[in-house]
Amino acid sequence: MRSTPARQLPPPGWTCRRTDPLTHWLLLSALACALVTSPVLAQDEGEIDEGVAAEPAAETTVPGEAEAGPESDAPPPVVLPPRVAPPPTAPARLLEPQPLGLVDIRGWSFTHIVHEGHHVYHQPTVRPDRLQRALIAISRAHAHAPSVLGVATPDVEYYLFPSQADMRRGLPVLARVPIQSALVVANGLAFQDAGHHHVTFLQAEAFDNELRGTWAVAHELTHHLQARLAGNKDYAQWFNEGIAEYVGSRVARQFHPDEHALDSFLEMGQIVNALRNRELPALGPLVTNAQWVAARRTNRSGLLYSTAWLTVEWLVSQRDPGGLTRTLAQVEQGRSFPEAFTEVFGVPLAELDAAFQAHVTAALTPGYPLGLNAFRDSAPTSGGIHFVFSLQPRERARVDVRSSQCRGGSTVTADAVGFAAYSFSAPAGCAGTYTITMTGSQGTSGTMQFTLT
Ligand SMILES: [Zn+2]
Repeated sequence: MRSTPARQLPPPGWTCRRTDPLTHWLLLSALACALVTSPVLAQDEGEIDEGVAAEPAAETTVPGEAEAGPESDAPPPVVLPPRVAPPPTAPARLLEPQPLGLVDIRGWSFTHIVHEGHHVYHQPTVRPDRLQRALIAISRAHAHAPSVLGVATPDVEYYLFPSQADMRRGLPVLARVPIQSALVVANGLAFQDAGHHHVTFLQAEAFDNELRGTWAVAHELTHHLQARLAGNKDYAQWFNEGIAEYVGSRVARQFHPDEHALDSFLEMGQIVNALRNRELPALGPLVTNAQWVAARRTNRSGLLYSTAWLTVEWLVSQRDPGGLTRTLAQVEQGRSFPEAFTEVFGVPLAELDAAFQAHVTAALTPGYPLGLNAFRDSAPTSGGIHFVFSLQPRERARVDVRSSQCRGGSTVTADAVGFAAYSFSAPAGCAGTYTITMTGSQGTSGTMQFTLT
């Protein structure tokens, strides 16, 4: 899954200072900074799964991995894409059903519970609050993701580990995922064994952020839905991940509309700046899982998942959500993906990237002029104001924020696509009208006023 992902937000890293010397200022400024640097916006920055994984045999070379490109320091590609048939030697049931309660599975302890009809195996050391949020996310995903694609929810077993590190150690033991492939799984992995039983592995740290946790479970569930719709047949990996992100986003937005709106604002800012600086990845060539993984290694923007997501959003806006299902259904019936895609969406695959980039230029770029852009220009003091800076790649910028009584500031550095994010919040006593000024080291600048209430 992603979850991630993939919003590479530089930490604000700002400092707080106030002009009037209240005796409790140090405490308040520490609180304000803590608010600003809270993980609300923090995207899972780890590596991400690659869709439903069919079970590899322990000693079998994984098809596709050999194509993944030259050796590098980056981890090798993760497990199989959905359309690769399990090897004939694989057991029909990778993980046998267990009694309720504490069970031992190949040396790993789990507590087996049934949550709303779903079998959930969580390690006893999973923090209770994270377990609770994971169960809520599972409920939400099953209640809403299937309807987006118009397909019935499948039975999925869930295995929940306390941390990403635990999950990465457990996947080779429990799912026979090659060790090197397990090392790139971030928050979860959708898995299908030879008997077509659906299993999702998750790590509990992902649920510290409810938006991200819901998104992650819905993303993985969508991979299971896609595998059913397409009958495990071949189609483009960018489409596979784009649909999973699209559905994950739709489900997460239902429950966290404000956070989702901010998240989208940030994602779109990254996409616009990536296109502006010629770093937006091209999706059309990313057909196989190996090509997708290789692109993750080489693309500096870190925006593969975001680009796939927003491309699918745009495709749906051109037609309707049913177009996704119709395309997969045609693939299941034996049509090639390029034929099915072009017929449903009216865009030849060869023109996909140019058409999406034209959409970004026309619809999104006007909202992100070079310099300083705000999510909103008014907010409560505790919630803070969120800005994105459209800079030159790696440009550093000095930020100065001040009202008649309070001030703050920081230095930020843009990423490879010229994007930087910055948040400002303040103690309640600092409500008022502010001016923010951004001065970049390569000449980019911006200023605007905002209000903290
Ligand atoms: Zn995925």
